[in-house]
Amino acid sequence: MMHATHIDAHLLPALQQQEQRLARQFALIGAVLTVVLVSTFQLIEWRILELPDALLVQHAWWRVLPVFVAVVTLILSASPNAGKRATVLLRLLALSVLVMIFGLLATSLLSADGDPRRMIHGLILATFAVSLVTLRGGPELVVLFGLPFAGFLVWLHLAGLPFSEWSFILIEPVMMLGVGLIAAELLYRIRIQSFMDRKRLEQMALTDPLTGLSNRRSIEPQLEGEVSRARRHRVPLSVLLADLDHFKQVNDRHGHSVGDEVLREVARRVETILRREDRAARWGGEEFLILLPETDASRAQIVAEKIRRSIAETPLTVSELSIPLTISLGVAAWHEDSNVDELIRRADQALYRAKACGRNRVCVDPTGATKAQGKPLQIA
Ligand code: GH3
Ligand code: MG
Ligand code: MG
Repeated sequence: MMHATHIDAHLLPALQQQEQRLARQFALIGAVLTVVLVSTFQLIEWRILELPDALLVQHAWWRVLPVFVAVVTLILSASPNAGKRATVLLRLLALSVLVMIFGLLATSLLSADGDPRRMIHGLILATFAVSLVTLRGGPELVVLFGLPFAGFLVWLHLAGLPFSEWSFILIEPVMMLGVGLIAAELLYRIRIQSFMDRKRLEQMALTDPLTGLSNRRSIEPQLEGEVSRARRHRVPLSVLLADLDHFKQVNDRHGHSVGDEVLREVARRVETILRREDRAARWGGEEFLILLPETDASRAQIVAEKIRRSIAETPLTVSELSIPLTISLGVAAWHEDSNVDELIRRADQALYRAKACGRNRVCVDPTGATKAQGKPLQIA
């Protein structure tokens, strides 16, 4: 997919979804307008302008095309999950409208009873309408306009109409195309920009600004999601709650900003230990929650132990200070019928025991565990 503005790869699916939603709305409105306006023009030519029958029939044939595409569009994009179909239909609809108007223009240039001026107005109107609904800005409008325009030129050439006889009437439509290109490109860029801004705000609302980890608000739905996945697919799931030991002393001794740096460094160390599918969040001040999908209690205990060691074995270096620190962790594994609250409560109880038993250790909630608790686990 080509985009004018740089877009992070992970945002592309969401952007595509937004584009499809928009395409569906455009397609539905555009289809209704096409049916109404195109039939109105045919009716006016028949009842008010009283064009000759032969010309009316020719016009009707050109007008059947977009009306047909519009009806198909209405039927096929009626469903809210029309998805990619809506983007294809919208483009076909726009193309069919321009094919129609170039067809009508060619017809009126070739017919003695034709009225090219009126068709030029139609072309301007159609180009304006299409430029508003192009999804990808200027380049897309060039294609939508260019294809029928090329057909129009070929037709006139084959019919032997000299260029000098009619080219002047295209001045206004070409000006409209210029305006349309700018409008389509601007609308597209504004859409991408507001999408990116919204995503950035969403991201900010879900991220802890100090550590860059998920915050509590963003980890909670993930917890819910993983618990339902565990329940549905009968896969293990564990959570760790970690709390730094005597962290208040770090603040008291070195100041709050050093404390903040320490928290950042702890978050970095925790993240290097986790797998891609694991999630670490800042649960509270100096408390972290780690979500370990498809991980049973004994695997989770090993991960917790790795985290404990990564903090305890190497003092943290912050502003040229070497700060020894330890961390306590509680492990709880999901088991049948447990919900998020209960899972967290068990992890919290395990953490509480780790603290009570002297800190710098991992305790496992007994509900899902077999190993001894309350002692630092030795892993070779
Ligand atoms: P222990 O957990 O081992 O019982 O002792 P503790 O001293 O760590 O006690 P507790 O967990 O209750 O302490 C929380 C301390 O963490 C209090 C506060 O000074 C500090 N803290 C919480 N959030 C932040 C933060 O964002 N930045 C800094 N620098 N310190 C924080
Ligand atoms: Mg603490
Ligand atoms: Mg705490």
